[in-house]
Amino acid sequence: MKAVIYDEFRSVPEVRTVSDPEAPEGSVVLEVLACGICRSDWHGWMGDDPDISLPHVPGHEIAGRIAELGKGIEGWKVGDLVTVPFVCGCGQCRQCESGNQQVCDKQFQPGFTHWGAFAEFVEIRYAEENLVALPEGLDPVTAASLGCRFMTAFRAIVHQGMTKPGDWVSVFGCGGVGLSAILIGKAIGARVVAVDIAGDKLELAEQLGADACVNSARESVVKALKDLTDGGPEVSIDAIGHPEVAKNSILGLRKRGKHIQVGLLGSEHSDTEIPLNHFVANEIELLGSHGMQAHKYGEMFELIAGRKLDPKKLVGRKVRLGEAPVVLTEMDRFEGRGIAVIDEFR
Ligand SMILES: [Zn+2]
Ligand SMILES: [Zn+2]
Repeated sequence: MKAVIYDEFRSVPEVRTVSDPEAPEGSVVLEVLACGICRSDWHGWMGDDPDISLPHVPGHEIAGRIAELGKGIEGWKVGDLVTVPFVCGCGQCRQCESGNQQVCDKQFQPGFTHWGAFAEFVEIRYAEENLVALPEGLDPVTAASLGCRFMTAFRAIVHQGMTKPGDWVSVFGCGGVGLSAILIGKAIGARVVAVDIAGDKLELAEQLGADACVNSARESVVKALKDLTDGGPEVSIDAIGHPEVAKNSILGLRKRGKHIQVGLLGSEHSDTEIPLNHFVANEIELLGSHGMQAHKYGEMFELIAGRKLDPKKLVGRKVRLGEAPVVLTEMDRFEGRGIAVIDEFR
């Protein structure tokens, strides 16, 4: 098969012919129909992810068609259209048994722990635990675009934040996760304040339905949030991953509000200080959010089918497999509008 592969971190990936994956017991092989290109792929290529061993094929935002079934797979057949979460649970550990495959102790992560879907085919392990059937009418490109940033934002707002209609949500950072969070917040009836330092990103946030915008380069974000939301938002998301951002998010909340950390902090910030006294006096909750497990996709699909939520708005451009190396390696310089998705693999 053809795949985008790199032999060294930070060396330009190439499209090369490599051997096709197989489907041992418990696995399936998918013919890849679409794969999103994500900043996490870029971090992996930079050498920031200890799960990656070389040579490596990236790609974790996957939609495909089942091409081969390993032994023991029931309930699926060749030809079924599916997607998978970027964290696939093993189905055996304590986390998986409690229904929290997104924090599985033995995660399979296509594109990180194993070869991913910048390729014509990809193996998916623990398939029964993680395959998600595409509902009628959801095309593979859109389905792939849900596989990481979007579903992470969904879990943060809906499951971790338990956001209710009428609640205020502040979203720090209007990249892929942040813009997804804005769409999802609005779809469930919340009011959303977008926070960023870039005027053009805030404009996009407004177009996607943000009720208010704060440019944190120009004004005091904590004061602005308190004023705009009559005391502070109920839920706030750091979709960037920076100590200053997380602190502002926490300090902006109203009493008993929830701060949800979605953005990963770089290693230089990983032991950042958080204002703990503020948590006590205001009964603030601090939560993390890490992807979303396969059996929760139904709720997200329902909102999409009910036309309250249109993830297509976040799909930027479609590219060929041969263009993926350039898109990937230039990601830090040209983020572009929306999610780039590979949809042609031959
Ligand atoms: Zn597990
Ligand atoms: Zn991703």
